[in-house]
Amino acid sequence: MFSRKHHLLQQLPVDLNNLSLTEWDEFFDHLEFGTESRKLVFESVFYEPVSGVDEIPDLSDKERDTLARVAVIRRSRQHELSRSIDGSLRLTLLLHDGRLTETVIIPEWSNGQLRKCSASISSQIGCFFGCSFCATGRMGFHRNLATGELLEQVRQAQQVVRNEFGTELTHLYFMGMGEPMHNYRAVSDALTIMRHDAAPGPPHSRITVSTVGLFRQIRMLAVDHPEVRLAVSIHSADQQKRYEIMPVSSRLGLPEIRDAMVYHQRQTGCPPTVQYLVMENINDRPDDARKLASYLGTLRANITLIMYNDVPEAGLKRTDKEKIDAFRSILEQAGFPVDIRWCFGEDISAGCGQLKVCSCQDRVSVSMRHGLQAGG
Ligand code: SF4
Repeated sequence: MFSRKHHLLQQLPVDLNNLSLTEWDEFFDHLEFGTESRKLVFESVFYEPVSGVDEIPDLSDKERDTLARVAVIRRSRQHELSRSIDGSLRLTLLLHDGRLTETVIIPEWSNGQLRKCSASISSQIGCFFGCSFCATGRMGFHRNLATGELLEQVRQAQQVVRNEFGTELTHLYFMGMGEPMHNYRAVSDALTIMRHDAAPGPPHSRITVSTVGLFRQIRMLAVDHPEVRLAVSIHSADQQKRYEIMPVSSRLGLPEIRDAMVYHQRQTGCPPTVQYLVMENINDRPDDARKLASYLGTLRANITLIMYNDVPEAGLKRTDKEKIDAFRSILEQAGFPVDIRWCFGEDISAGCGQLKVCSCQDRVSVSMRHGLQAGG
């Protein structure tokens, strides 16, 4: 069976929770598993939370033995659940290699009714891009999360929502630690798996992927997952100022990002959300608002202004309410729907730009970045 060794078999055991969908097919081709057996294993790894190969139901003895010799399922487990006074929760998971990842859960109430319950999941441990306002960026990049680890965050968040609120997760945001588009393959595989009703997570139309503007991946997302929503963090429509806020933008030209947003909108029929983290005396002047409106031009975008959460190392401040209102009205007069997002979970360091963990042994602090719910 293993006469010509597949690269996945060079280092045994193979962690099934850590395979991409392509590797999954290659691996089970190699094991010569039939369609039905593959389906059983797939469902047990990604849909049902079995913790070991020996728990996978209905495999033949021969297949179970074969699999047990070469494969394991390495699960994440709950490490901590912190509660904010505003009702949001920060779920910390301990990964198989001792690293920690963060998921923020945000219930939103209206007239005593829970109208929305969302989770913002992390896609990487740390981040490569080093945005000035972001605690995650200060950690440096450690590693990508695997498809299985992304799905485990969704499943565990879903379980917390059921336990705490007796309801289902209504919305999912790829907006936790890391840049989801920089881990596109795993994020895309997780989205593909989540299309199935038995998989964890809400339907695609209630899932949003956030990015600092990786334009090639924005186009890929439009083709691969047209129902998934897009959120792009712009933060300044001035290339030089954007570069100072987000050093990665030296390689991400604003015109190319806009072209990609236009492409995404044409392809999917959905307007993107443009996220703008407002920071005092950095990007909060009326001229900054006018530049943003002019940059977006005829693009049908929804704008979310995000209130900055204090990240002491960054030395940046939140803009006051009058300035925000003035900023908002310039954008509204230009015809854009504007939403203001007051961040949740500041007291548990789960707000915008605050997520930051390394490993169980090497905990620094916790926070979130990029976008709407919790990041920038
Ligand atoms: S804002 Fe997003 S892209 Fe920038 S450093 Fe933080 S996690 Fe990375």
